[in-house]
Amino acid sequence: MDRKSGQSERSGLSRRQLLSGIAVGALVVGFDPISRTWVTAAQAATTSSFDNVPKLDGTIYFDTDTRTAHSYDQGNIVQQMPAAVLRPGSVNDVAKMIQYCKQRGIKVAPQGGGQGRPNSVFGYGLVSGGLVIETRWLNTIHSIGPDSADVDAGVQWIDLIKAAYAKGLTPPSITGYTQLSVGGTLSIGGIGAWSTNRAGAQVDHTRQVQVVTGTGDVVDASMDKNSDLFQAALGGLGQCGVITRAKVDLVPAKQLARTYQIPYTDISMFFSDIRTLINRTTGQPTFDIVINVCSPGTASPLALWATIFYNQGDTPNTDALFTGLSPAAQSAQFTDYNYLDYIFLVDSIYDGFKATANWEAKVKPWINLQVPDDAVEQFVQSVIPTLTPEDIGPTGFLLIWPNLRSSFTRPLVRVPSAGKWVWTFGILTESADPGPNPTFASQMTERNKQLYDKAYALGGTRYPEDAIPFTAADWKNHYGSMWSTFNNWKKKYDPSNILTPGSGIFG
Ligand SMILES: Cc1cc2nc3c(=O)[nH]c(=O)nc-3n(C[C@H](O)[C@H](O)[C@H](O)COP(=O)(O)OP(=O)(O)OC[C@H]3O[C@@H](n4cnc5c(N)ncnc54)[C@H](O)[C@@H]3O)c2cc1C
Repeated sequence: MDRKSGQSERSGLSRRQLLSGIAVGALVVGFDPISRTWVTAAQAATTSSFDNVPKLDGTIYFDTDTRTAHSYDQGNIVQQMPAAVLRPGSVNDVAKMIQYCKQRGIKVAPQGGGQGRPNSVFGYGLVSGGLVIETRWLNTIHSIGPDSADVDAGVQWIDLIKAAYAKGLTPPSITGYTQLSVGGTLSIGGIGAWSTNRAGAQVDHTRQVQVVTGTGDVVDASMDKNSDLFQAALGGLGQCGVITRAKVDLVPAKQLARTYQIPYTDISMFFSDIRTLINRTTGQPTFDIVINVCSPGTASPLALWATIFYNQGDTPNTDALFTGLSPAAQSAQFTDYNYLDYIFLVDSIYDGFKATANWEAKVKPWINLQVPDDAVEQFVQSVIPTLTPEDIGPTGFLLIWPNLRSSFTRPLVRVPSAGKWVWTFGILTESADPGPNPTFASQMTERNKQLYDKAYALGGTRYPEDAIPFTAADWKNHYGSMWSTFNNWKKKYDPSNILTPGSGIFG
């Protein structure tokens, strides 16, 4: 019995698989290169010739239920049916299957996601007729040291945050929702919407990654070793390799969080106050994170959430924090939380939506833009009045928050090229009813393209966790000065172009 995978060597099946009742006959044992179809155990006896899949620690599934579960993502906009799903029992399984697929021209897509289904919203982790690699089965937290953690890519951030906090530590940059895989957010960026305006994304706090490239090689990469692969993997949307393990920064955690909520009806006043707060100099009282979170189901007003982390006996000085702000800010109410209760607040909201609002079935044509500092107010002033309640939806949010531009250090995470701050402008649009709803999806993704074009004309970029229809020319523009380098990395590390086709970056 393999301790990590819990698999019986004789049958090749884990106890979990046996208990789940999936028919042994539905498990994949090979690929027929003539008919270009996978061969199951049940078909093997009657198939004259096929290429055996390598001996694996995990298992490949072929049954309709498993494939269907991996044919769509959190967005419920795109559906692409994979031919088979790998639940790896080891990194070697990932390497062996990528080599196997490369030799046969089979496309491969890694998927993170809590329940195995990607959290992306526009099909970037899907693969039609190819092999899905479900990374959540590689989920060991190998070690937590004084300032870093070494984890498998299938670990969810929520589990790492809990384990680190037990040692008084926390990641410096934390996403709003934390039921996301380490490999999944590192492949996009992982912008810290909930913990800081000044520490960049999770990729900026990643020291080393282990990657299985598109040639099936297992490679360690950092800024000192294989630095091109390191940069290609971080924010690289799975184009050059599957991240299987990462070493990420941890910092000392505070015990408590105090969150002030300030409603605004006047956009200029909102920006004036938020700029006062973020531009305070060292030594002045400062919030750790300020972010606009519009209430679900409304297009306005703006509501600033300003949070400061602190320890027992070091209570924040409200008067000092609010000095110099508008009269609107003086009406702010605050709530105190234990650190983890604050960090998991967004998870608790979405857990509630899952339980009561059929959230996972909703159509989610989200948009997330990065707008330059000097254009953000003009952009927000022009967009907010055009939004209707349907643009947000009963479980949606409108988010606006600044991030220090110099804190973004990875070249494939594209941010505007000038200004001290970049502003993330996100409309997390969600349908009122469960999907699919192609009319709503196409109406909202078209809106997204128009908003993107408007932001792009102002020097803005896109954070590609969202649903914006992109042509090859759009991707080229998106990567700008990095396009030819990214192309070269792709040719070097995925020469057969089999990895992660869903975004269409490389055709
Ligand atoms: C409710 C909610 C809130 C969110 N809040 C934030 C936020 O605050 N900040 C933020 O930055 N993001 C946020 N996200 C977006 C999140 O970063 C993406 O959904 C991301 O896709 C992570 O999800 P995942 O782990 O399921 O990865 P997936 O969706 O499975 O993967 C994302 C992409 O990376 C690829 N990929 C997955 N795993 C790997 C791997 N190991 N190696 C290489 N490529 C891989 C996939 O093929 C896909 O193209 C949020 C998402 C949700 C649903």
